[in-house]
Amino acid sequence: MMTEGAHSNGVKITDVRAHPFDIPLTEPFTISAGSITSTRGVLVVVDTSTGLRGLGEATPVYELTGEFPTGIIHVVNEIFRPLMIGKNPFRLEDIADTLDKAVLHNTSAKAAVEMALYDVIGKALGVAVYDLLGGENKTVITDISLGIGNPAKVAKLASEAISKGFTLVKVKVGGNPADDLERVKAVREAVGPSYEIKVDANQGWTVRAALRAIRALEKYEIQLVEQPIAAWNLNGLVEIRRKVEVPIMVDESVFSPQDAHKVVALGAADMINIKLMKCGGISRGKRIAAIAEAAGLECMIGSMYESRLSLTAAAHLATSTRAITMADIDAALLSRDPVDEGILFEGGRVRLPGGPGLGVTLKSELPYLE
Ligand code: MG
Repeated sequence: MMTEGAHSNGVKITDVRAHPFDIPLTEPFTISAGSITSTRGVLVVVDTSTGLRGLGEATPVYELTGEFPTGIIHVVNEIFRPLMIGKNPFRLEDIADTLDKAVLHNTSAKAAVEMALYDVIGKALGVAVYDLLGGENKTVITDISLGIGNPAKVAKLASEAISKGFTLVKVKVGGNPADDLERVKAVREAVGPSYEIKVDANQGWTVRAALRAIRALEKYEIQLVEQPIAAWNLNGLVEIRRKVEVPIMVDESVFSPQDAHKVVALGAADMINIKLMKCGGISRGKRIAAIAEAAGLECMIGSMYESRLSLTAAAHLATSTRAITMADIDAALLSRDPVDEGILFEGGRVRLPGGPGLGVTLKSELPYLE
């Protein structure tokens, strides 16, 4: 008979609560789907019978996940809470299965709860989450995302990013292909030949527009094109992949491990962008990476407009997953965070905390908690 380990024996979840928070951006950010001026997130706090507390964050973009803070708060407080109270926080598989059966989708809410459980488990064992995941405390190199704007302005932001120590830039495209071309050209001229430039169309092009745009962008030595066309159009992605040499990364097309499997089976992408808010947590992110790795695809750890709380969880996942070779977890636009400690940004270098757990502490004063 299997017996419970000393650390997990008898620990019970005693409460699960969601609280909204609002983080203004230092300046508005525009992608092909629209502009935002602040990020609205949900902090999830899991309490346990041993007094250990876990923290998680759900900060989705509703155009992508269909989730709103009010809905996440309802799901966590009214549906997840009664299902989780009394359960052992170490039982990640059982809890994830229970929550999946209780509510369809709601991946950000599920990600927040699971990251809080990892935080609790790490604290109970006195180790960092990357230790739990088989990883190590390594520096993650992140790109910086530059929104849609006039070419001179975006080029200036790119130059500033390079002078701050970023070595990789991601340019948002997917609008008018002629404007996209001008913007990427301006950024390439601003940063010079030795820096990587990714472009992300956020589903903004048709297949034809994508083919035309990507062929025209090739001369600016772009590293990859992220989600050129609609998320659902996997056959279109296959067609684009056949006709251009630039690697194609899927983002909006892959939420779940099942989505990743479909993309791999069809040959619809060269790379997958994994985001905790899309996949529903660290464990699911690991599964997507495993599917990618088995098929020879590379992954990027990405993020939405999240605070350093969930970006820290994303960094733990990245440093413990071999198939994750790229990162897009810059929080350069965020003006405040609900947590202290956590990851530290030094230009494009992201330094992980040592733990235990996620290695974040809740700010003692939370003026943005409503
Ligand atoms: Mg993207």
